[in-house]
Amino acid sequence: MATRSPNLTAGYIAVLAGVFALAMIVGLSPLARRMDGEAYDAILTAHPPAAKEPHAVVVAIDDRTLGNYGGIRALRRILANALLIVARARPSVVALDVTVPDLGDPAEDDALADAFSRTPNLVLPGNISDPDSGTWEDPHSLFRRLAASVGHVHAAPDPVSRVLPLEIRSNRQRRWALSLETARLYLRQSNITETPRELELGALRIPSQTDGRPLYIRYREGIPQISAAELLEKASTATALAGKAVFIGVTPQTAARDRLMTPLGYMMSGVEIHAQAFETLIGGQYLRPISNTALLAMCLGFAVAAGATFAFFTGWRAYAPGIFLLVAAHTAPSLMFGRGYVVPYLPVVGTAWLSLITAASWQHFIVRRQLRKSEADKARYQQAIHFVTHEMRSPLTAIQGSSELMGRYSLTDEKRKQIAQMINSESKRLARMIQIFLDVERLTDGQMQIRSENFELSDLLAACVDRARSLADRKEIVMCVDGVADASLKGDRELMEYAIYNLLSNAVKYSPEHTTVSVSAKRDGGSLRLAVRDQGMGMDEKELRQIFTKFYRTKKAEASGEAGSGIGLSIVDQIVSHHGGRIEVTSTPGKGSCFTMVLPVHAATLVTP
Ligand code: ADP
Repeated sequence: MATRSPNLTAGYIAVLAGVFALAMIVGLSPLARRMDGEAYDAILTAHPPAAKEPHAVVVAIDDRTLGNYGGIRALRRILANALLIVARARPSVVALDVTVPDLGDPAEDDALADAFSRTPNLVLPGNISDPDSGTWEDPHSLFRRLAASVGHVHAAPDPVSRVLPLEIRSNRQRRWALSLETARLYLRQSNITETPRELELGALRIPSQTDGRPLYIRYREGIPQISAAELLEKASTATALAGKAVFIGVTPQTAARDRLMTPLGYMMSGVEIHAQAFETLIGGQYLRPISNTALLAMCLGFAVAAGATFAFFTGWRAYAPGIFLLVAAHTAPSLMFGRGYVVPYLPVVGTAWLSLITAASWQHFIVRRQLRKSEADKARYQQAIHFVTHEMRSPLTAIQGSSELMGRYSLTDEKRKQIAQMINSESKRLARMIQIFLDVERLTDGQMQIRSENFELSDLLAACVDRARSLADRKEIVMCVDGVADASLKGDRELMEYAIYNLLSNAVKYSPEHTTVSVSAKRDGGSLRLAVRDQGMGMDEKELRQIFTKFYRTKKAEASGEAGSGIGLSIVDQIVSHHGGRIEVTSTPGKGSCFTMVLPVHAATLVTP
């Protein structure tokens, strides 16, 4: 489990919730909707409706027809002649996508009216010519009375024709779409029953919401198209129209105003789109948009799954389900399409990606950081234990040995007193060591405040030199102290003593016999420089870079048999930096080293005599 603390869990949930909200906002933006449209087109093309014998035939007044029969100005005459041929073929319904709101040449109008009267189940187009007034422009009454019905020929105001409004209301007048009216007559139904979510047409239940009753057109290939010119030239071609719903309209790019882009990737004229909508209505394989609640639930599901995956698993156990979620998000809209639901692509895919990226990054950066920190804490603790056991061994051995001595042999009073004193001082040293150890531990943890007391540097140095004296005497090393009589320090005396003693004892430990170790203090601008210099084995550049690392010891020091646990300097470094200072080291192999504590004035005040 990656997130343990309640705060961290709350943070994780909050961040994921924020990302989810962001994904929803971005996913429902106009730009995203446009991209959803592109995805919809791809899915639609990949899911053609089951191939059935088409019910519609398009009779196209195309370039050839216009070219051969007098152009767009002869449209009514062409229409009248073509209709006569169509009518003779006994189609089921004939839908016209050519508006006839007014009268023109009387002879032409009469011919057209005559053709209309012979056409069974004629559906004429009505449209709103002036969007400002919203008035319906119906076929002229001369023609209107010859038609079985009037249907609107408006498209949805989208650049790509994906949905068709089955209903348009304007000026308190409502019109069903040309394709729907054609379908009604084709199915021999007298009316269309409306419910809030559906239109009922005979046995058909057409899903369409009250607001405009949009119908997703399931574009298909293979709706037959016959050129009007061909009909006029060879009337026998019309046999293909028997029993069909015939859609007649103008198709060339130059003449048809209502050509639109379709999801199939090419343009279609209005009459072809009406025929496609009609096929969709009759075909019965409808699409409906997924409800907002369902979409929200779906996206939320992906976000929660992504969050949970990275909350409970790490490594491939998290990434494998993560990838599965991505694949699921990418395929969900297509799968749902197969079941007749239109799911916007971007909100779903966007939520999945954003939540997964967020969850994975959270795990990587936040949880891993916590993990690393706790691992570092553990390692530090182990080192500390190592240090304690190592450092405490020598006073303990001394105490053990002495007490054994006292118990086993009868000793003179003098000797007994001496040993008792030794036991006393060693146990005090032990106690002090424990205290220092605990203090340094808390220092590292940032739990401890440095004590702030004033003390004389000369006293402190005297104490340290005294402690190091016996060590120095054994090697006949001279220790000299200069320039410190007038310095006063502020800080934690005990920690400072530990630090300075450490430098001094190192200087003695790593120096040969008959050399000198000197301690000096001098003020340099805003700081006090306290230097411990020896004439010992020294260190090279590479070694110098590592001596403050815990447990590091140079090869030479180890060979000398003097090296300790290698932890002293790392503690000295911490103590000095907690006092706001730093340590500088210069050293030459074989010649000696100089460790200089540079303390800021607030920690060290030089009092001029
Ligand atoms: P140790 O207990 O080993 O002395 P320290 O942390 O005090 O641990 O020192 C780390 C290492 O730095 C020593 O083991 C030694 O190799 C090197 N070192 C420290 N002080 C000196 C010095 N004055 N001269 C040469 N080497 C030194």
